[in-house]
Amino acid sequence: MAPEKVVSSGKCSLCGGVFDKSVMATHLRSCRKKQPVPEKSKKTAVFHLLVEGRYQPDYWMHLEIPVNATLDTLDRFLRDTWLECCGHMSEFEIRGTRFTVRPMDMDDEGMDVKLKDVLEPKMAFFHAYDFGSTTDLKLKVISEYEIDRTGRKVHILARNEPPVIPCGLCGKPATKICMECSYSAKGWLCDACAAEHQCGEEAFLPVVNSPRTGVCGYAG
Ligand SMILES: [Zn+2]
Ligand SMILES: [Zn+2]
Ligand SMILES: [Zn+2]
Ligand SMILES: [Zn+2]
Repeated sequence: MAPEKVVSSGKCSLCGGVFDKSVMATHLRSCRKKQPVPEKSKKTAVFHLLVEGRYQPDYWMHLEIPVNATLDTLDRFLRDTWLECCGHMSEFEIRGTRFTVRPMDMDDEGMDVKLKDVLEPKMAFFHAYDFGSTTDLKLKVISEYEIDRTGRKVHILARNEPPVIPCGLCGKPATKICMECSYSAKGWLCDACAAEHQCGEEAFLPVVNSPRTGVCGYAG
């Protein structure tokens, strides 16, 4: 018997509706056409990106970002939203070329590159944060379009609902991770079990809605 497929759902930030991951891109296409046009807006060309944990696909976001924005802007957004713990290195890998903040290798490029110069619809690319305890992300360019919009550089169109991670002792939803014990399921604890845990409060990180939850010092 095939294992039961776990469906990851997420929330559309335009209408507040909750949809399965598999239909969100389709939903967004129709939902954004229903949005009121903001005053003082002008036409901006944007990419619609899907970003997800490369090995943790239950963490995902749909983003809208101007095609004129740089890789550096996208990197900073990913750090702010999902990744930043202590200023580790990061890189994008696009069609075999690595783009890093401080290129070390002759073949590498910097991140001061406009998205429209390296991306096009339908292509996939990768991001890695921290070359020690790496968090790997996969990104896909869903489409490119023009839209009336103002303000912020990156818009979150939709985001996954927090996956439920069971407490390793009792099975209730885990809220804390013991950094001393996180290599085993017993390091993921609900509030009640955390209160009884031998390692003490200082060892705990909160469980957060990010593919970096429980890694290094990441606390959201
Ligand atoms: Zn919607
Ligand atoms: Zn760190
Ligand atoms: Zn528990
Ligand atoms: Zn512990």
